Amino acid sequence: MGHRFRINKLHSEIASESTIRKVLRYLEDSETEPPYLLMDRAKIIEKVGLVGKRIKNSRVFYAVKANPDIEVLRLIDSLGIGFEIASEGELNILSAIGVGKERIISSNPVKSFRFLEMASSYGISNFSFDSIEEIEKLRDCSPGSNVYVRLLVPNEGSDWPLSKKFAVEVDVAEDLLVMAKKKGLNPVGITFHVGSQCRNIYNWNTALDKAKTLWDRAEKRGVNLSVLNIGGGYPIPYTQDVVDIETIDRNVNRLIYEKFPGNTQVFIEPGRAVVGDAGVFVSRVIGKAKRADEDWLYIDVGIFNGLMESIGGIKYSYIVESSRQEKKWTLAGPSCDSFDVIDKDILLPEPDVGNLILILSSGAYTVSYASEFNGFSIPETILI
Ligand SMILES: *Cc1c(COP(=O)(O)O)cnc(C)c1O
Repeated sequence: MGHRFRINKLHSEIASESTIRKVLRYLEDSETEPPYLLMDRAKIIEKVGLVGKRIKNSRVFYAVKANPDIEVLRLIDSLGIGFEIASEGELNILSAIGVGKERIISSNPVKSFRFLEMASSYGISNFSFDSIEEIEKLRDCSPGSNVYVRLLVPNEGSDWPLSKKFAVEVDVAEDLLVMAKKKGLNPVGITFHVGSQCRNIYNWNTALDKAKTLWDRAEKRGVNLSVLNIGGGYPIPYTQDVVDIETIDRNVNRLIYEKFPGNTQVFIEPGRAVVGDAGVFVSRVIGKAKRADEDWLYIDVGIFNGLMESIGGIKYSYIVESSRQEKKWTLAGPSCDSFDVIDKDILLPEPDVGNLILILSSGAYTVSYASEFNGFSIPETILI
C-alpha cells in the first residue's frame, strides 16, 4: 500500500533491522485493520536461545503473563523451555497445548485455593511462598511439593519494581523454610525478583549476596537447599540501549559459582526479555488537536487496550508514517477517559489522520494487560 515511514538510527538500535524489515513487508501485503500486534518469531527464538545460555546448570521458565498468546506459547513450547504461571487461566492454555507438568512451575507467592488444587492435580510440584498462610495452603493442597521462599531484594534501577507486594527479609525467610519442612513440604530453595526491566546489573549482585546468607543460615537449621530461582527482570531496549543478557548472565554465573555449591540448580523466569522486543504494535492516527499550547495526537492503541505500562513510566519508541518535520506531541489513546494519555513532549514527525504509527518493543505486558474498556477491542496478535 506504499507506506512511507521515517526510520532513524535510534529505531534500528531499539528493534532489530530484521524485525523492522519483516514488519514493513507485512504492511505492504496486508489488509488487516489496525490496531494489531505483530510478533517476530525469529526474535523470540533468538531471545529464548540467549537467556540462561551462560548460566551453568540452569533451566528457563517463560513467565506466561508477559504474553500469553496461544501461538506465542506454542512457539516457545516448541523450543523446549518451561513455563512459570500463576492462575487457572494460564494453566488452561498450557494444558490445551499439551505442556507437561514437569515443565511448569508457579512462583506467585500468594496463590488461590482453586489454582493450587488445579495445579496440584495437574502434577505441578514447584511453588514459591512467603508466608505461614501459604505454607498451610500448600500443605493442604499439595503436600510434599517442592517450595522456594521469596526473598526481598533491592529493586532500584528497575523500571517496574516488584518488591513491595511480595517477599520477606532473611530472618523471616529462614523461619519460613524451617516451618515448611516441619509441615511436610520439601523446602528446596530461594527465589527473588530484581524488578522488571532491571537496568541495574548490581541488583543481581545484592540479591545473590542476600540469598547466600539465607542459604547458609537455612543449612545451619537443618534445611539443605538445592535450587536458586533468580526470577526475571532482564531488560529490553525501549528508548535506549540496555545491558545485554549475556553480560548479566556471565556475571550471575560467576557469582553463583563463587558462592553456592557446585551442584546448585538454577531456575530463570524471564518474561519481558523473551517477547518484549519481538513485538511491534501497528496503530493508526485517529485524530489531532491543539489544546492550549499543546499538540495532541490520538491513536487507536492506548492505556486501556495495550499500553498500560505507560502509566508506570515505560516509554516507547515510535516509527511514524510521515516525512514531515518533527514536532512535540502529547500522545493519547482512543478512549474517552482523560487518564488515557500515553506520553507527553515526545518528538515525532507530523502525521496525518489515517497514517500509521509503529510502536516498538511492545510484545510484553501490553495485550496481556488490555481490556475492552469503552468498547475498543483488544488488538489481535499476529506472528510474523
Ligand atoms: C512477572 C514475573 C516474572 C517475569 O519478570 P520479567 O521482568 O518480565 O522478566 C518472573 N517471575 C515472577 C515470579 C514474576 O511474577
